[in-house]
Amino acid sequence: MEKKCYQCGSSNVAKIVPSTAAYIPEIKKEIAEGRAIVKCCCAGTGTNGQYLCKDCGFQWDYYYERSIQNEKDSE
Ligand SMILES: [Zn+2]
Repeated sequence: MEKKCYQCGSSNVAKIVPSTAAYIPEIKKEIAEGRAIVKCCCAGTGTNGQYLCKDCGFQWDYYYERSIQNEKDSE
């Protein structure tokens, strides 16, 4: 499923991966294709499911995504 920026709606979105994940061939490929961005592991535990919009710079994670989803569900 294609990710879209929650702020500007752009699909020019990259997954943020810790530098340790850059050695995984699948992740490596995503980085080469511009679909993933390496961030140093100092980002801490929240790195799973973090995304960055390359158009407006908006950044969000799994929990943000889920809270948006919950808002939609309650409507
Ligand atoms: Zn955006």
